[in-house]
Amino acid sequence: MDTKVVRIDQQHIDRALIREAGGIIKAGGLVAFPTETVYGLGGDATNPASSRKIYEAKGRPSDNPLIVHIARMESLPAIVRYVPEAAKKLAEAFWPGPLTMIMEKSEAIPKETTGGLDTVAVRMPSHPAALQFIDASGGYVAAPSANRSGRPSPTSARYVEEDLGGRIEMILDGGDAQLGLESTIVDLTVEPPAVLRPGFITREALGEVLGQVEQDVTLFSDDGGQAPRAPGMKYRHYAPNGVLTIVRGPAEEVARYINDGLAEGRINNKKTGVIATDETIGGYKADVPRSVGKRRDINAVAKGLYRILREFDDEGVELIYSESFDGDGVSQAVMNRLLKAAGHRMIDV
Ligand code: AMP
Ligand code: MG
Repeated sequence: MDTKVVRIDQQHIDRALIREAGGIIKAGGLVAFPTETVYGLGGDATNPASSRKIYEAKGRPSDNPLIVHIARMESLPAIVRYVPEAAKKLAEAFWPGPLTMIMEKSEAIPKETTGGLDTVAVRMPSHPAALQFIDASGGYVAAPSANRSGRPSPTSARYVEEDLGGRIEMILDGGDAQLGLESTIVDLTVEPPAVLRPGFITREALGEVLGQVEQDVTLFSDDGGQAPRAPGMKYRHYAPNGVLTIVRGPAEEVARYINDGLAEGRINNKKTGVIATDETIGGYKADVPRSVGKRRDINAVAKGLYRILREFDDEGVELIYSESFDGDGVSQAVMNRLLKAAGHRMIDV
């Protein structure tokens, strides 16, 4: 199949292109589209055949549930059994935006879309082209991240094309994703509500609206013998081809440990990479050194992380060290993704 790639200018969104993309979804096809978090691979959430196609294009197991994207609050009641009070409050505070809420699903959403579950994950993205595209598609776009299974979520249309070119009808190219990490997921079917995936809407921010909000214990540990709460959490997450180790501790000791590791890698003829910050990157001797930006700008770290991980794979890097980005708020989202990419390999120095 030929994949049509079209550029979307956020300031002047071409309505004809959006209508064309929406027509593809209504006809049961697939369109990748920009959101503020990462690119999504969209299909009609109400059409079981479309959801099956999404899994096929991604090469992902079909019991991994998809997020249903809506463009307006009026669309929500039709796809859930009821709208919880908590959902109204959170929508008021954070929609449109990088927050996904899990609720009990209605008959309108087939089990093919929810990976066999009786619950549905719903998000209203803030990206203007995404909102127009969802409207043009009939209002309910099921979308996981637009990467092939086993690759990082795509933060630009170029990566979508690399992974899914020839497998889907269309790619809407809206430039670089503004945030770069996937949405926060909060489960509203349990009491108290629980964060299943950390993101830009932090647990603290959710707590200010709802009172008590839990954070799943498996988010930062290997699994601790606990069964994951979100079905999607059971799958092996993206990990770079190279062996990635996170090093945590005082800056000087981190630098020493990483440089020792890089030196050993060189002796063993391994291609090396390092993830550091503007402040420290000059102190490392790696084949592929990458700075995520200034350490205090955690949003920049989040935005650049997946691109850097893809670059290591593209360059054939075999041994990777990363500095740690511990902290509250968005740092939790960054560390959650980094730990998964590292298979939880972290050294305290
Ligand atoms: P992605 O779209 O690639 O960011 O992944 C979507 C993720 O959302 C899945 O892998 C699950 O972890 C989660 N998810 C979606 N729907 C549900 C649901 N009904 N219950 C729990 N988790 C869900
Ligand atoms: Mg994904």
